[in-house]
Amino acid sequence: NQNIYEDAIRDGLSGLLNHKTFIDRAQEEIERARRFQHQLVFLIFDLDKFKRINDTLGHPYGDYVIKTTAKIIKDNVRSIDLVARYGGEEFVVILINTAAKNAMPVGKRIVQNISDYLFSMDNQDVRMTISAGMSEFPTQNRSVDQLIDLADQAMYKVKKQGGNNILLFNSESGTVDKI
Ligand code: GH3
Ligand code: MG
Ligand code: MG
Repeated sequence: NQNIYEDAIRDGLSGLLNHKTFIDRAQEEIERARRFQHQLVFLIFDLDKFKRINDTLGHPYGDYVIKTTAKIIKDNVRSIDLVARYGGEEFVVILINTAAKNAMPVGKRIVQNISDYLFSMDNQDVRMTISAGMSEFPTQNRSVDQLIDLADQAMYKVKKQGGNNILLFNSESGTVDKI
């Protein structure tokens, strides 16, 4: 029964929470944070130029990159934080009881660890980078959808600047790196 339950809440490839479970759990965390007046940080990660991995090295290699990236992200956060596979090569994290200024080093470390990692399978070595964006509850928004959207906007700004970085969404200027 425990295995059936795990299959329903987790993504089969990465072992992370699946999209639907994430949305439900995120809503619960928002309610808890509101009650205890805690801050939360939402982080979105999307691998840069991932499609070329499938195209040049094959789908199993792409799966290996997704699985390894999931592990690197998971290993860089606490066990109470939420980590989900949000889409194909897109991940979302909620840092519990954390402010953006304390989340930035965590996000930067993940971005750095991905770019430092030598992906290697079947004697094929590859380097990857990842783009990330963050938003903060309750300062920037109070709804799950909006917090994801704001983190996504910051992440897209990183993509436009060439990837391999993280930005915090900033209501005044669009996005900003420094806090
Ligand atoms: P960008 O730098 O803008 O992020 O471009 P990208 O190539 O990383 O992103 P794009 O959205 O164009 O491509 C994502 C690809 O991920 C397309 C899809 O075929 C692939 N994909 C989605 N899910 C899986 C999966 O489970 N395994 C593998 N191997 N590939 C997947
Ligand atoms: Mg991508
Ligand atoms: Mg994507």
